Amino acid sequence: MQIDINDIAQHYKNVLCKSPYFNSSKPVTDINLLYPPFKNLLSQSIQEFQNSYPGVMVGIGETYRGLPLQKYYKSVGSSKTSSGTHPLGIAADTTVNKKYLNALRAIYKKNGLTILGMWDPGHVQYIPINLQAAAWSAVNNICSNDIPIKPEITDTEVSINKLRKSASIDPFLILFIFGVVVTIILKKYI
Ligand SMILES: [Zn+2]
Repeated sequence: MQIDINDIAQHYKNVLCKSPYFNSSKPVTDINLLYPPFKNLLSQSIQEFQNSYPGVMVGIGETYRGLPLQKYYKSVGSSKTSSGTHPLGIAADTTVNKKYLNALRAIYKKNGLTILGMWDPGHVQYIPINLQAAAWSAVNNICSNDIPIKPEITDTEVSINKLRKSASIDPFLILFIFGVVVTIILKKYI
C-alpha cells in the first residue's frame, strides 16, 4: 500500500473543506467523506469479513469528524488526540458483535490498515500513527485560511435525518397507519 500524504491533503481541501459537514460539532457517519483509497480498503475488508462470516453485520459509525468535536472528545477523555485521523477523513469507527472483533481487526491489519489497542477496538485508520503529524502539516501547507468554511447543517435537518435513520419504520408511515385506524374507529361509532 502506497501512502500519499499530499493526496490526503488534497482530499481535505477539495472534499472535506467543501462539505456542509466541515468542522461540524456533531458526529458524521457519511462514508462518502472518507478518502477514496481508504474507503475502498474499508469496504473491501468488511466484504472479506462478511464472506467468512455470512450474516454477521458490521456497522460503520463515525467517519469524518469535525475538529470542534474531536477537541471536545479529547477534553472529556474519550479520545487521546485533539487532531488525529478522523478529521482528515481517513478513519472510521466500526462495530461488530464482540465475538467477531478480533477476526475483523485481523482483516484490517492484513489489508495494511492501522488499528489501535483494545481501548478503541472498532477504530480503523488509513495511516500509521507515526505519519499523522506529516499528514497534518501537509494539510496546513495546502489549506490557507481563505478557504470558506461552509455553515453547518441546521439542528432540525440533523434530527430529521437521525429520526429517519433510527426508526426502522418511516415516521410518515406511522402517521399514515394512525390516520387509517382513526378513520376506522370514527366510521364505527359515528
Ligand atoms: Zn475512531
